[in-house]
Amino acid sequence: MIRIGIVGAGAAAAAAAHTLANASIEVDSTVLEKSRGLCGRAATRRREDAIYEYGANYLKSDDERVVELVTDTLETEGLVEISDPVWTFDADGTVTEGDDRDDHKWTYRQGLTQVAKRLFARTDATVHRETRAETVIRGGGGDDETWQLEDADGKRWGPFDAVLLNPPAPQTAELVRSADWESPVREPLADAAEAVPYRTIWTGVFHYPFELERPYYALVNADKDHDVGWVSREECKPGHVPDGESLLIVQASPEWSADRYDEPPAANLERLADMTARLLGDDRLREPDWTDHQGWRYALPDDGVATEPLDRAEREGLYCLGDWVAGEGRLHAALCNGLEVGARVTGE
Ligand SMILES: Cc1cc2nc3c(=O)[nH]c(=O)nc-3n(C[C@H](O)[C@H](O)[C@H](O)COP(=O)(O)OP(=O)(O)OC[C@H]3O[C@@H](n4cnc5c(N)ncnc54)[C@H](O)[C@@H]3O)c2cc1C
Repeated sequence: MIRIGIVGAGAAAAAAAHTLANASIEVDSTVLEKSRGLCGRAATRRREDAIYEYGANYLKSDDERVVELVTDTLETEGLVEISDPVWTFDADGTVTEGDDRDDHKWTYRQGLTQVAKRLFARTDATVHRETRAETVIRGGGGDDETWQLEDADGKRWGPFDAVLLNPPAPQTAELVRSADWESPVREPLADAAEAVPYRTIWTGVFHYPFELERPYYALVNADKDHDVGWVSREECKPGHVPDGESLLIVQASPEWSADRYDEPPAANLERLADMTARLLGDDRLREPDWTDHQGWRYALPDDGVATEPLDRAEREGLYCLGDWVAGEGRLHAALCNGLEVGARVTGE
């Protein structure tokens, strides 16, 4: 049997845990997740009768293994497609019909977090929520070949034969930098993770007690020159918003988000609602009946990572996984990377 410690319960970790659970050798996986939920940045909330995604908007069918995973391996009950298209707008707010007809845009009636929930449910992994890993320890307990994890309360977990690190690159860098691990690999690995640039996104959520008639699901800013980067209508996702209501997800541009990240949320929401009202040409959108928001400091990796330090760390039993390792800030890329890393851990 091999013992695996996993930091983070994002999509990549869930895919890795699923692969490990299906390996021919017996695997005992322990997951430490700092938040209360599963699936990390593919995040779903419920409020009143609405369900909405305020991180990743949907899962794309860009990779065959992921298509097989969601349409074949996992139960498809509740898997729904967003059939309305994504259109574009430019710096002046001019809206143009887009062309994404060949893409599938998937989510679940109960929300995108179902991806990780369904994957973990098919494993025997124990997931400890609200447990933040603070330190990675090589050896300890007298065996130099094993790993331990220490959480924020000073509790030690392990020993593990391998440890998988799923947090975004800057948080992984911190964990590696502070690791109790005497190895020439530690600093190059921390440096490589730290060097991955990230885009910040501030998300506003706006609910209205009326329907909004539009021919598109979402608008994306194509020239990257508008303070709004993305507006989408959660009511286009089956099961998300009760009839007769609308719920808009508005993601500010990375520049606007970084500039105003620490501003009072109420002021940011007011500005975003105003820009959205202008973009969609509807004054009523300035007055939502309720709002929500989320700042994502490390929303999307903007470049890949140097792979050599990651390969060297793997040879010692320390694996990094996630969208930043895949080199693409997309849910399907994170899932794929998790499948690959899971297979490498057991050598299958
Ligand atoms: C605003 C926004 C919009 C997006 N839109 C899309 C989209 O439309 N389509 C798309 O495909 N992708 C989109 N993405 C990207 C997508 O969400 C990510 O690529 C994907 O979810 C990354 O998964 P992951 O497993 O790599 O990491 P994460 O989801 O970040 O998972 C990492 C996990 O580690 C946990 N963690 C961190 N530090 C610790 C610690 N010290 N101890 C324990 N746990 C820890 C975190 O809480 C988290 O659960 C979007 C992301 C954002 C933020």
